Amino acid sequence: MISIHEAIDTVIGAVRPLPAEEIPLLAALGRATAAEIVSPDDVPSFDNSAMDGYAVRGAELEAGRREFRVVVDIPAGRWVGDQVGAGEAAKIMTGAPLPPGVDTVVQVEYTEQRGETLVVREPVQPGANVRRAAEDVAVGDVLFPRGTRLGPAEIGLLASVSCQEVAVARRPRVAILATGSELRLPGAPLAPGQIRNSNSFTAYGQVLAAGGEPVLLGIARDDLDETRRLLADGLEHDVVITSGGVSVGEFDFVKQVQDELGVERHFWGVATKPGKPLAFGTRGDTLVFGVPGNPVAAMVSFEMYVRPALLALQGRSDLYRPYVFAAAEEPVQRSRGRTEARRCRLLHRGRSLGFTTTGPQGSGILRSMALADGLAFVPPEFPGAEAGAEFMVMMLEGSATERPPFPGGPVAPAVNS
Ligand code: AMP
Ligand code: MG
Repeated sequence: MISIHEAIDTVIGAVRPLPAEEIPLLAALGRATAAEIVSPDDVPSFDNSAMDGYAVRGAELEAGRREFRVVVDIPAGRWVGDQVGAGEAAKIMTGAPLPPGVDTVVQVEYTEQRGETLVVREPVQPGANVRRAAEDVAVGDVLFPRGTRLGPAEIGLLASVSCQEVAVARRPRVAILATGSELRLPGAPLAPGQIRNSNSFTAYGQVLAAGGEPVLLGIARDDLDETRRLLADGLEHDVVITSGGVSVGEFDFVKQVQDELGVERHFWGVATKPGKPLAFGTRGDTLVFGVPGNPVAAMVSFEMYVRPALLALQGRSDLYRPYVFAAAEEPVQRSRGRTEARRCRLLHRGRSLGFTTTGPQGSGILRSMALADGLAFVPPEFPGAEAGAEFMVMMLEGSATERPPFPGGPVAPAVNS
C-alpha cells in the first residue's frame, strides 16, 4: 500500500491536460481558462465620477475658490464635451464622464446650491472622487493566468472588457460504472438482499461539481463478460470510474477486466480508511479509477484522487480542497495501520475551530457524509486522545493550490507545481 501523497502524485503525474475550445462567455461559468487572458480594453475607459456631486477644477479649489457657476447637468452615459470653463461646475452623477479639464468631484453632501451658484462647504482634495481611466484594468494587463476557474466575478470582468468568447479547457468526459449484481436503481423493485445503487448518483454530482461531464454507464452485474463490455465503453472517455468489485472477493472482477483491456496499473491500495482498495491505472490518456464499492469509501476516494485529476485535466492549479486545523470536541479513538479520514463538522469556538464527527464512521454510512463539511485526518497508529487534540481537517467545498498535509506518508511538496 502506498501513502496518500504518493497516490496523489501518481495520479496527477498521469494527467495530460485536455485541449481548448472557444465557447460563449456565459457558457464559460465554472470552466478553466485554456490560455492567459490579456485585456483588450481599459476599465474604466474614461475618467468618471465616483459620486453624485459637482465636478470642478481641482486647482481652483486648491487656490481657495468656494463658489462656482453650475452650467450643465451630466447623467451617466452623457458626454457634454468642453462645456465647463474656469469658475464653473457641472452637476454630475455616479459613473458619468468628466468633461475635459475638470478633474475633481465634490460630493453633494459637502455642497449647497443656490440658484446657479454652487457653494462648497468642506475641503476637498484635488482629484477626489474620480475613477481614472484604466484604473481597474489597462489594455495589455494579464486578467487571468491559464487554468483560472471562471466564477461570476471573472465572467463579469471579461464582459467589462467586451469579451464574447473565451478559450477554456474542454470538460473531461467521465464514464461512471457501478458494479454489483445486488444493485438496483431507485424505484426498481428490490428482491431480498438487493440494495440501491447510490454510487452512480454521488459520483454524478461529484463529477459535475469538479467541472466534468458525467456519462452514466449503468450497472454491471458481477459477470466477467458484462463487466468487460461496459468497461470497454468506459475506456472511450477521458476518465472512467468504476465502483465496487475491486477488493479481494470472489466476484471482484474489476482488476482482472482492467488487465484484459490493456489498462496499465499504477497502484492498487492506499493506506487510508476508508478507501483502501483503490485501483488506479491508465490506458493511453484515459485515467481509470476503480474506487471501492462502499458508498463513503467511493466518495472519499473521489475527493482525494479523482477530483484533483479532473481539475488537472482542465489545466487548473488549485487542485486541492482547503484545509484547517481544528480541535476535537470529543475524545478521539485510536487508529490502526492506516490514516483515517473521519467525517466531521466544523464549529466556531471563539477565534478557534472545533470539530465533531457526524456519527458512525462505517464506510457504508452515507448519512454521516451528508452531515459532514470536512474530513478530519487521524494519523496511522494514533493511540487515541482526549478532547482538545488538534487534527488537520480537509474541507469538502472550495479549491486551493496548496495540498493538505495528509498524515501518514512521505511528505509531498506543500504546493502543487
Ligand atoms: P464491493 O467492493 O463490490 O464488495 O462493494 C462493497 C460494498 O459496497 C457492498 O456492500 C456493496 O453492496 C456496496 N456497493 C457496491 N456498489 C454500490 C453502489 N453502486 N451503491 C451502493 N452500494 C454499493
Ligand atoms: Mg461488489
